[in-house]
Amino acid sequence: MKIERIKTDLLIIGGGTAGCYAAITAKNASNAADLKILIVEKANIKRSGCLAAGVNALNAYITEGREPKDYVEYAKKDADGIVREDLLYSISERFNEITAHLEKLGLVILKDKDGKYVTRGNRNIKINGENIKPILANAVKKLNNVTVLNYVNIFDFSVHDNKIDGAYGFGIENDTFYAIEAKAVIIATGGAAGFQGIKCGTRHSTREPDTPWEFATAPK
Ligand SMILES: Cc1cc2nc3c(=O)[nH]c(=O)nc-3n(C[C@H](O)[C@H](O)[C@H](O)COP(=O)(O)OP(=O)(O)OC[C@H]3O[C@@H](n4cnc5c(N)ncnc54)[C@H](O)[C@@H]3O)c2cc1C
Repeated sequence: MKIERIKTDLLIIGGGTAGCYAAITAKNASNAADLKILIVEKANIKRSGCLAAGVNALNAYITEGREPKDYVEYAKKDADGIVREDLLYSISERFNEITAHLEKLGLVILKDKDGKYVTRGNRNIKINGENIKPILANAVKKLNNVTVLNYVNIFDFSVHDNKIDGAYGFGIENDTFYAIEAKAVIIATGGAAGFQGIKCGTRHSTREPDTPWEFATAPK
């Protein structure tokens, strides 16, 4: 078995929608030109995660007459109150800005005769989203100093002084063990609701049992 040691500034574990967009956001920050980012994905970021096959709506949008706090209320109820309301609020405040950016990247959003987005319910807009993952993967590809390691499954973190400063993984299609060192780590391995059985009987229970990490950051 080969051992590959990699050093990076920011390690993103999971290259689904959140992982890809985290790389885009980090690179858009000021002074990020030299920031080295590594995305590690157990599948291939072009078609990975829950949105791999595409979707026909964005379910996180603040429609006309609604406010970010309305979304927070909905999400809180949907998750039986197990949420960080402050985080949800700051995320909700940026939904529409991110949607506009996704449209610029090439996502087709349906519009009515007045040029307004076509809604589907209180917090959803209709899209032609079969290519949402390839669109995000292409956007990631264009970023400088961003490397993608597809087909590598991360199975543990490297922890020092109670801080995550890297991770360990195995190549799925090769016999390589990866030891990755990073100044900061973003865990974007998807929802673990199905794994934890919080909402059995709804669409949440169809989510793949990735790892119970959910989402966390560990700046050094
Ligand atoms: C059935 C269904 C229908 C949905 N429909 C819609 C919809 O119409 N509109 C909408 O807006 N949202 C919809 N969603 C929700 C949407 O898909 C999710 O909110 C979104 O995909 C979450 O993105 P994510 O990047 O957090 O997680 P994911 O998309 O799950 O991505 C996580 C990534 O991490 C990778 N990964 C996991 N573990 C590891 C590991 N150990 N090592 C390396 N990589 C790893 C996975 O392969 C995956 O690519 C739907 C979800 C489901 C399940």
